[in-house]
Amino acid sequence: TKGAAMVTAVASRVQAQRKQIDKVLALFQLTREQLVGIRDKMRVEFEYGLKRDTHPLATVKMLPTYVCGMPDGTEKGKFLALDLGGTNFRVLLVKLRSGRRSVRMYNKIFTIPLEIMQGTGEELFDHIVQCIADFLDYMGLKGAQLPLGFTFSFPCRQASIDKGTLIEWTKGFKATDCEGEDVVDMLREAIKRRNEFDLDIVAVVNDTVGTMMTCGYEDRNCEVGLIAGTGSNMCYMEEMRNIELVEGDEGKMCINTEWGGFGDNGCLDDIRTQYDKEVDEGSLNPGKQRYEKMTSGMYLGEIVRQILIDLTKQGLLFRGQISERLRTRGIFETKFLSQIESDRLALLQVRKILQQLGLDSTCEDSIVVKEVCGAVSRRAAELYGAGLAAIVEKRREDQGFEHLKITVGVDGTLYKLHPHFSRILQETVKELAPRCDVTFMLSEDGSGKGAALITAVAKRLQQARRE
Ligand code: BGC
Ligand code: MG
Repeated sequence: TKGAAMVTAVASRVQAQRKQIDKVLALFQLTREQLVGIRDKMRVEFEYGLKRDTHPLATVKMLPTYVCGMPDGTEKGKFLALDLGGTNFRVLLVKLRSGRRSVRMYNKIFTIPLEIMQGTGEELFDHIVQCIADFLDYMGLKGAQLPLGFTFSFPCRQASIDKGTLIEWTKGFKATDCEGEDVVDMLREAIKRRNEFDLDIVAVVNDTVGTMMTCGYEDRNCEVGLIAGTGSNMCYMEEMRNIELVEGDEGKMCINTEWGGFGDNGCLDDIRTQYDKEVDEGSLNPGKQRYEKMTSGMYLGEIVRQILIDLTKQGLLFRGQISERLRTRGIFETKFLSQIESDRLALLQVRKILQQLGLDSTCEDSIVVKEVCGAVSRRAAELYGAGLAAIVEKRREDQGFEHLKITVGVDGTLYKLHPHFSRILQETVKELAPRCDVTFMLSEDGSGKGAALITAVAKRLQQARRE
């Protein structure tokens, strides 16, 4: 009959649409073989970065940090710390007490307006110093001459613990006249320009390193620091003999891998999708940080948005209407992805979130959106897992162990807020590095506390050298 024919037609249209959606989602599903391949490629890039001959062209830069030891619990005193490059800019006062390993912290969050993130370097550093001044004022510490640790979460070439030349900006930063300059000098000059207080800048530290240090304060096995937040990065303790860029063969030094640049030589092209390319092209640093753009909080929402635009164009979503909102960059922040993917959330609530984002959805739409978010964040967690498996396996082999027990200090909004990310990441590491027993330790405020600990250790070594 006519009615039955219509039902069949509708059913087959729904089926065809489903197929189209599945085809898109499948682009994000990585097989075990693919993940093993990614792990092995990451390993190759680590070795390139460490070797003097291949280092200049390496995309995973493997930067020496001049952080050579873990805190031993004797650290004490008051320190200032700055944390620039994550979700927030913060100024902190950290009080360390020796013996008890107790840490007290006071901090203030400041926003960095977009026009300052992307203005001139002088404006950026003047703004930072303005925030320090406000904080000192607020804490009643004006005129105090405290040692300062600067957590600066961007790739820096270091020749010592208190020098760091910015290689290039990543994430949302693009201030002029900073690349190729020493960020410690820039901070010192801005302090001088203000001419109100003096600070003793002792250390410049990557956030991964601060995170590893903070966890290392409590767990001796912690030899890896991981950030899964706005950006993506990992650091670890490497044998000095493997670090060709630094003299000496004794002991270990922390290497900031800057693995966000993995894939910049095209080695991930076989898994990058058209959506990844669109996100890259629309970013502040096209062609750079390709792995970061597939894995970190700043970009996952953008990948989702590109997919939704495409599905809408194909008539599979939002009644085929691309709204102004959907065209707006940055609408899907990590916190929204995390909410949408929460299992406790009913679809009606997913629709409410989409509504808040200015997207009118049907119930079917909300199911598809949730699936898209799931596919994108799962791939991100698996890619992280493959990278992490590469480093723990390397550490195990380098030490000649049959089995390795190792702790990874972790921080970042994606790891902490997302309902599935951390679990998938851990499962992937287990699968891809079966001979390593990896413990994940959440860092409580790694960037701030870690910077203070590193500053304390550096200060102690500085004084020992003087005596
Ligand atoms: C930076 C790293 C940083 C990471 C996490 C990346 O964009 O290049 O230095 O550790 O973000 O904040
Ligand atoms: Mg941070």
